[in-house]
Amino acid sequence: MTRKAPAIVILGKGSLATARKLQQFYPDALIYGLAGRVEGVERSYQEFGATLRQLYQQDTPIIALCAAGIVIRSLASVLLEKGAEPPVLAVAEDGSAVVPLLGGLAGVNVLAREIAAGLGVAAAITTSGELRFGTCLLNPPSGYALADLELGKRFVSDLLAGESVRIDGAAPWLEQAQLPQNEQAQLAIHVGCDAREANANELVIYPRCVLVAVSAALPALANAVRAALREAKIAEPALACLLASEDEMAAPALQAAAAELGVPLRFAAPAASVSELAAQALPQLLAPQPVGDGLAIAVAAEPIDPQQIGRGRGRLAVIGLGPGAAELMVPAVKAELARANDVLGYETYVRMAGPFRADQVLHCTDNREEMQRARHAFELAAQGRSVVVVSSGDPGVFAMAAAVLEALHESSEPSWQRVELEVLPGVSASLATAAQAGAPLGHDFCVLSLSDNLKPWAIIEQRLDLASQADLALAFYNPISRSRPWQLGRALEIVRQHRTADTPVVLGRDIGRPGQTLRVLRLGELTPEQVDMRTMVLIGSSTTCTFPRADGGEWVYTPRWYGQKP
Ligand code: SAH
Repeated sequence: MTRKAPAIVILGKGSLATARKLQQFYPDALIYGLAGRVEGVERSYQEFGATLRQLYQQDTPIIALCAAGIVIRSLASVLLEKGAEPPVLAVAEDGSAVVPLLGGLAGVNVLAREIAAGLGVAAAITTSGELRFGTCLLNPPSGYALADLELGKRFVSDLLAGESVRIDGAAPWLEQAQLPQNEQAQLAIHVGCDAREANANELVIYPRCVLVAVSAALPALANAVRAALREAKIAEPALACLLASEDEMAAPALQAAAAELGVPLRFAAPAASVSELAAQALPQLLAPQPVGDGLAIAVAAEPIDPQQIGRGRGRLAVIGLGPGAAELMVPAVKAELARANDVLGYETYVRMAGPFRADQVLHCTDNREEMQRARHAFELAAQGRSVVVVSSGDPGVFAMAAAVLEALHESSEPSWQRVELEVLPGVSASLATAAQAGAPLGHDFCVLSLSDNLKPWAIIEQRLDLASQADLALAFYNPISRSRPWQLGRALEIVRQHRTADTPVVLGRDIGRPGQTLRVLRLGELTPEQVDMRTMVLIGSSTTCTFPRADGGEWVYTPRWYGQKP
């Protein structure tokens, strides 16, 4: 079972030493510390209960360094919900006790034993089957699947009541268990790929040793796979993965079938037939059996690790971090960062996207090398890696998404075209700034970059003139820089030809980042010295207005209507 890295949650400095020790056993684990009480940890949280519930619902294993009771009380409200049940453990602050609480079927006892061994104490295992037999029969290791949990529970309680058992088939991990084995026993643990009728005297465990090679052209692919397995008298949970030809990597039918069957999809170099495809991907397979035209079943003697078969489809995600604050990052972006093998971007943004695990590769480059970065991203993704390109704000707003698409458009490399490409949005600086000021962009508005690095200044002047004339509110990105000192002054001259001096202006600097500032002023007061390259400039239209807010500042908004108030 591949396990997500655990979260180590602590309430105070007193537990930090034990937390760090646990981190040595799980280098990918992040320590979550209560804000104001614990400094210098990877994550800081405001509220213990909410944090624990969120981690639990995201299926993150939890190691809480506090009283078991606090953990139970915090999670109580989410326990009845169906869904993820990750391992949850309470560990005493000083590391003297390890108590597995939840997630019996997710391997909590295995985790508890590992931690206890590391800390030199005994784990407080309370699961009877586990205590008696030294393993949880209902939680077979990766590569094996339990046929039926409910039947399994009954089977284990029969065993606990004193019945003996025989083992049918190869189950290496059960050799170590202390099972009351007896060749003549009524109860049997059956390990094999063959489809079997459910039987109360049997615990059926399927080894995932079956690979099905498919062609994307086959209609109703998932059903065809199911029918072929049925025909071959193989149980569906024994299916380890689907295999297809690399030149069909982007075929939606393949992704859909793999998702429906709940198995990974792997790819091998094109071959004359699907049987050959399977044979070349796993030479030690028993001879693949062709089933009709676009399908072949191959059965291995041992469970198949899909990671070892051919390769996976690479993924490239262009993500937006939002303006800076973690709360303003969309959850899909957080999830993408967690699955990334490689992260590319301007160093400031890559740092903003962290912290990262030791196994994640960071490729920090200069801000200007956009096309080069985009091509590098495709090269990595074409190798089957999961690659993230980071932008601040939204990746589609004066940022990396367009460069990545341009690189793809210009390329005729088939392996780049097959990469799974996705653009994940973020909160752009203009929207983050506008939200803090009220709703200055509440009516039609125009977004412009004042940088003439990639476009002629004359075009910028023309657009400024027309947008101002059209009475659109304006949002300026890249308003000024050391190499572009005079442009903002010129831009304001143009805007002032169409707007009055009392037009509201919002300056947001480092919005959503430490030290952020927000200023509301009038167009007549605005000078380029008040603006730098970390500033967003919002200029109102003729209808934008302001009024005092209770905290002393000013609200700014542009009404929805134009002309006559409806
Ligand atoms: N993709 C980004 C914009 C990149 S252009 C986005 O969607 O926000 C860079 C410009 O964006 C900066 O010169 C500045 O004008 C503005 N900007 C980016 N982040 C900002 C922030 N946190 N606060 C204010 N302005 C910001």
